[in-house]
Amino acid sequence: MEINQVQLKQVDNQIKRLVACGNFYGKKLKEAGINGVASVEDFKKLPFSEKEDLREAYPLGLMAVPEEEVVRIHSSSGTTGTPVIIPYTAKDVDDWGIMFKRCYEFAGITNKDRIHITPGYGLWTAGIGFQYGAEKLGAMVIPMGPGNTNKQLQMMMDMGSTVLCATSSYALLLAEEIEQRGIKDKIKLKKGVIGSERWGEKMRNRISTELGIELYDIYGLTEIYGPGIGINCKYDTGMHIWDDYIYLEIIDPVTGENVPDGTFGEIVITTLVKEGAPLIRYRTHDISRIIPGECPCGSKFPRIDVIQGRSDDMMKIKGVNVFPKQIEEILATFPELSSEYQIRISHLDGKDTMRIYVETNGHVDFLEIARRVAETVKSRIGFTPLVKVVELGVLPRSEKKSKRVIDERYD
Ligand code: ZN
Repeated sequence: MEINQVQLKQVDNQIKRLVACGNFYGKKLKEAGINGVASVEDFKKLPFSEKEDLREAYPLGLMAVPEEEVVRIHSSSGTTGTPVIIPYTAKDVDDWGIMFKRCYEFAGITNKDRIHITPGYGLWTAGIGFQYGAEKLGAMVIPMGPGNTNKQLQMMMDMGSTVLCATSSYALLLAEEIEQRGIKDKIKLKKGVIGSERWGEKMRNRISTELGIELYDIYGLTEIYGPGIGINCKYDTGMHIWDDYIYLEIIDPVTGENVPDGTFGEIVITTLVKEGAPLIRYRTHDISRIIPGECPCGSKFPRIDVIQGRSDDMMKIKGVNVFPKQIEEILATFPELSSEYQIRISHLDGKDTMRIYVETNGHVDFLEIARRVAETVKSRIGFTPLVKVVELGVLPRSEKKSKRVIDERYD
């Protein structure tokens, strides 16, 4: 999905503004001799930026407007070092609200809905983003924040919440509690808007079946406004991305080259109209792909697939980029296999190879199922793995999350 002329002009404006204001980013661009983009080729030559770069700008080095124009900051969690601080102008906050409102609309949510918000409020962008979008929509917000399951369920019943905003893990917990307490008939939920984390089809089905609701995946990250830069529509064919506010491209995480639409790679985002802290070619490390073609809903907003994991998990096998989740999803389609598996990557005779160990009970033909798994991987991902089927209980189990991917190439 190549950048169009309008977007290119917007990026050019952002770069000129950054260089002129001389913020952290502007200085970097100036040092690299960049003061604008006039063509698609120019855009492709722009350097990427990384979370590490943004950390270096702590605390307010990313601010690209005079301080009087900044109305708020948000921060990404600092669990792995210095946090990143993103300043927002009034227009940035408003733009974010407009995008979030659009997300609710794509999910068929209206001003007659009662929106129960469980993500946290505070420095990070979760709760407040869900709230502002809902207010712009004119819906009734129930601003719960996280935790206190008793109170959550009580309010959900008393207020008749119709939309649940949550992480996938919290939505699952609530679903299980509702089931256990036998209060399902008192719950009015119709839809769930779930913050994008990596979650499997099985978990998704459990939440939607137990709560009896339609689920919508919302995408976003603190560095780029927050959640709300894209969501799937009711046809559930990927998340529509608001390309009037951001330009999204997919690159090969190793070479940095753009990959063709339909191919998995790393999401890179450029903001188009952000004032407080514009970002140019920001590497998210999230893995997805552009879904080619048009959505049955008729919307022209481009679509990306469900987030497949982090680029740090990527493997390159026989020239094909592979992510553990892709293999996981294929294995999940074989009811004969247990949920345990192991993927081992090694370098043999000058080539990367993948071995997949799976478990099944003694009643199926091991060779036959190994052949079918290998064929499915070949047809869906493009290379043939070695598949080894073992007896149920042979693969290691551990209390903690088992290590399922073992890369032996660099031992
Ligand atoms: Zn659609």
